[in-house]
Amino acid sequence: MRTTPRILSSEKIMKTIKKDKINTVLDFLIKKYQVFGPVQKDDLVVDFGRIQNGAQACLEFSNTNEPAKKLFFPQAETLFSYTGSDAAQVSELKPEKPRIIFGMRPCDAKSLSLLDAVFDGPDYKDPYYIVKRKNTTIFTLACRRPRSNCFCDSLGIGPFSKKDTDVFMADLGDRYVFEPITPGGADILNKIPGLENARPTDAERLKNLRSEAESKVARKVDLDNLPEKLARIFDHPFWDGIHQKCLGCGICTYLCPTCHCFDIVDEQKDDKGRRIRIWDSCSYPTFTLEASGHNPRATGKERMRQRLMHKFRYFVENYGEIACVGCGRCINHCPVGSDLIREIENINNLK
Ligand code: SF4
Ligand code: SF4
Repeated sequence: MRTTPRILSSEKIMKTIKKDKINTVLDFLIKKYQVFGPVQKDDLVVDFGRIQNGAQACLEFSNTNEPAKKLFFPQAETLFSYTGSDAAQVSELKPEKPRIIFGMRPCDAKSLSLLDAVFDGPDYKDPYYIVKRKNTTIFTLACRRPRSNCFCDSLGIGPFSKKDTDVFMADLGDRYVFEPITPGGADILNKIPGLENARPTDAERLKNLRSEAESKVARKVDLDNLPEKLARIFDHPFWDGIHQKCLGCGICTYLCPTCHCFDIVDEQKDDKGRRIRIWDSCSYPTFTLEASGHNPRATGKERMRQRLMHKFRYFVENYGEIACVGCGRCINHCPVGSDLIREIENINNLK
């Protein structure tokens, strides 16, 4: 698993830049790095995209529709390809130009540490994920406008969390402030021209903005002893009702920053072929369909139970943490209004 190197507190010198000069920071970074950041896709949607010049970044947003997981674990990824009948040649995975993801929210930064446990753990190493992860520096942007279904602080994260990032940024109103968190982040910050040292009053201002943002995280949920509660209710009639309105569309899993199930597909045409890894979803009826025709999760009941059990029980048993960062995307985008927080409250209320 990726360990985050720390810098000495004496080296944590905060820098600032006027908001109307932020494009110059991005333009500088673009010369040396592939920079990805929030980009306005249409009137309502902001998502991560490659930024070719600073003016393309949209830093006034609540959160992106999609998390940044696709930049580490793409929705479809060719693992290798071959021609003719020779054994497939797997070319060595080489890092591309170093990458910066600029403006990721703290909840999404935390989700990467959860994906690290899966793709870069002691037992399994996924080279396709690891090469991208090691090649990427994260600049998180504190969240001043949490959305109505955000509940990150119930997961111990919070809109101003400085964990799991290389550089922490916040919008002070007239300026952006940058705080180096890792040596790699400090090294990049030290090279950016035009940054000024933060003012003595900025730390207090940051503290007040943090309290203000935390007070706007309206939804909360009690997660105490949830894995144990789930272990007790595997056969409870509760599961007979919870899935009834679910369409099995998979949106809740595709937009979830921590969902990571995938399938492997081989494609061949004439003498050319390739092996592709594609996202899969426990919400799909075919997810566990076996070649014999037997399906251990034959109905929506078993599939919905699996989704909650995996996030809030099995992941805790396997990796010691809940596989949810409280981003609220699965609630915001479910076409039939399935509400994860309400379901957890219902579980908490079961006798
Ligand atoms: S987004 Fe809603 S309808 Fe779609 S699979 Fe998830 S819970 Fe079911
Ligand atoms: S389960 Fe829902 S709230 Fe939790 S991280 Fe996934 S999308 Fe976000």
